[in-house]
Amino acid sequence: MNLISKQPNTGTTIFTVMSKLASEHEALNLSQGFPNFDCSPKLTELVNHYLKKGMNQYAPMAGIQSLREIIAQKVSDLYQVNYHPDSEVTVVSGATEALYAAITAIVHQGDEVILLEPCYDSYTPAITLNGGIPVYVTLTPENEYKIDWSIVKSKITEKTKLIILNTPHNPTGTVLSEEDLNRLSDILKDTNIFLISDEVYEHIIFDGLSHWSLLRNPVLKERSFICGSFGKTFHVTGWKVGYCLAPKQLSEEFRKVHQWLTFSTVTPIQYALADFLQEPENYLSIPQFYQEKRDKFLTCIQDSRFTFTPAKGSFFQCVNYEKITQENDYDLAIRLTKEIGVASIPVSVFYHQKNDFKILRFCFAKDDETLERAGEKLSKL
Ligand code: PMP
Ligand code: GLN
Repeated sequence: MNLISKQPNTGTTIFTVMSKLASEHEALNLSQGFPNFDCSPKLTELVNHYLKKGMNQYAPMAGIQSLREIIAQKVSDLYQVNYHPDSEVTVVSGATEALYAAITAIVHQGDEVILLEPCYDSYTPAITLNGGIPVYVTLTPENEYKIDWSIVKSKITEKTKLIILNTPHNPTGTVLSEEDLNRLSDILKDTNIFLISDEVYEHIIFDGLSHWSLLRNPVLKERSFICGSFGKTFHVTGWKVGYCLAPKQLSEEFRKVHQWLTFSTVTPIQYALADFLQEPENYLSIPQFYQEKRDKFLTCIQDSRFTFTPAKGSFFQCVNYEKITQENDYDLAIRLTKEIGVASIPVSVFYHQKNDFKILRFCFAKDDETLERAGEKLSKL
């Protein structure tokens, strides 16, 4: 067969590559971002309950009513903003679907989409598969990945349709501030440019910092698709349940894509999440829980030769290794997995030109023993 690939440059994702390598070499897997501990037993009990109760057929296309209602209630309580559960909240099969559906709903052939790199690996392919053109703003560790909004502004042309942001940020662990939102809204207020805000680490934020969701700024809210994921918040990345918040007109277009992509999302888990979200402590306890993980990991590597700025959010810590070696980050990540038994992610993979700033990303969503053992190995380098 003569198959012309639509993604000739796509290989296997780095997360799959590193997790496979970690398993082959029995390495501690601090690469792919997932917890190695289980979720609350209450949550699995709820899923069991709804499975046994026979909630096993298609959910409504937009998600079950009670889950959409409690999501709307939660954002109203946390940020004092309104999203109508019937027309502005959609439950989807993971944030990956939310991102893909939002990009597909918005991007026409030849539209430009501004991305701030390093960025999550699904953004660029979703844009190009839809005929869009990614336009990159490169953030660097020298500058602590701070966004220079004048550079973002300079990339805007009459073809710019969309900007994609991510806070708290994977892989860098940085977060947007209120000032960032103000600068962005000044730039966008008289434009027809849309926004996708990837906020899957909403509750994984440290040091008393506040999560500056784009929905907190009215100019940004009216043009934003806010993408969330329960996988991160409740330690259930394998469940792939997320949601998208967007004003009515945007949600209508979003749902048209969701309808053809997956149609609806796993039913018993939606019922379980709707119940679990009734208790705010289940998500309000998460920042403290993960701050302890971050601090544990940093204590474990404090005597190593890695240098770092503590992550402000997400479950990733980036470290610079130039005091140890000048190897490129990809080779080093592979070597450390094979030779010392600790797997990480080379941050160059999150740049479209694979810029190598000598940074590795470690996931600290691991039990204390794993973090201690990894710390011991890394401190010997
Ligand atoms: N965005 C970012 C920044 C992520 O780190 C992830 C992690 N997998 C996703 C989106 C995808 O989330 P989900 O697993 O809910 O599809
Ligand atoms: N978000 C996870 C990470 O950044 C990986 C998700 C995936 O494997 N697709 O590590």
